[in-house]
Amino acid sequence: MALRHRHSHQRYVEGQDEQHLRQLTLIRDLQDAVANGELWVAYQPKLAPRTGAVMQCEALMRWNHPTLGFVPPDEFIGLAERSGSIGMLSQWLLEHVCTQLDTWQQQGYRLSIAVNLSASDVIDHHLAHHLTQLFERHHLAPDKLSVEVTESAVMQDVDAAMNTLMELHRLGIRLAIDDYGTGYSSLAQIRRLPVKELKIDKSFIQAIDTQEDDLTIVRSTIEMGHSLGLEVVAEGVENRASAELLSTLGCDYLQGYWLAKPMASEQLIAWLDSFESP
Ligand code: C2E
Ligand code: CA
Ligand code: CA
Ligand code: CA
Repeated sequence: MALRHRHSHQRYVEGQDEQHLRQLTLIRDLQDAVANGELWVAYQPKLAPRTGAVMQCEALMRWNHPTLGFVPPDEFIGLAERSGSIGMLSQWLLEHVCTQLDTWQQQGYRLSIAVNLSASDVIDHHLAHHLTQLFERHHLAPDKLSVEVTESAVMQDVDAAMNTLMELHRLGIRLAIDDYGTGYSSLAQIRRLPVKELKIDKSFIQAIDTQEDDLTIVRSTIEMGHSLGLEVVAEGVENRASAELLSTLGCDYLQGYWLAKPMASEQLIAWLDSFESP
């Protein structure tokens, strides 16, 4: 009994060690990921069901680690935030998407891009200035870029975040609250921010076609959002039934595997070229 107990305890510790070692490796290697060209961006389109048009896509970061292979952003973004390298990743991302927007613009595509920013990005005093320079260098109108932030990222330091977000707003950058419904803040708090868009978290959307409760929550969120003058986005739309339901509820934008998975930029363009509104 005692032996078995010790054995299982040891295995538990070994598992923890492995996990810890992987994290240390990832934190270390993140330092060079940008310089080594290991990062790339996947783009996932959003559909406006009322017009049937796709005008925007979300940029989602991807990391191909040289030995560990694909590392999901849910794993490395948190590590980057805690180890202080997220600023470097966000800088790279912003530079990369502005270059991409410039290319698309020259090719005649009118797509805009939404980027995800972390808590430390939205309290960075230099962000607005940095973006202004990027827009100038790439001949972009600021409304080509949207910023998605979670409630919790903003609430970490509301005053500082408010400052930066107001600057972005004055520049003409559109702001969306991401993962809406998973945090503790209320619409009353969010309303004080210069927000244009609420993005309902996929946990409420994924089973909306079968879960009565989710449908009720989403319906009232869309109504509240609209009554506050916000546009409402559903992420995680996985099937046609959900898409139809959400369009009926007046949801402004749909995003999810039903429409398209995140794709490399060349794939996205091929997809767009053959896209027929559903
Ligand atoms: P998020 O911003 O909430 O992005 C939505 C996630 O849901 C993405 O996962 C996307 O691939 C996935 N998704 C899209 N449609 C569906 C669907 O129909 N069903 C399901 N089950 N999932 C769907 P991904 O790309 O793995 O990103 C995970 C999270 O990592 C993002 O959540 C975001 O919080 C973070 N992230 C990704 N890229 C960046 C980045 O460049 N910067 C920052 N700060 N965070 C990022
Ligand atoms: Ca997002
Ligand atoms: Ca989400
Ligand atoms: Ca998220």
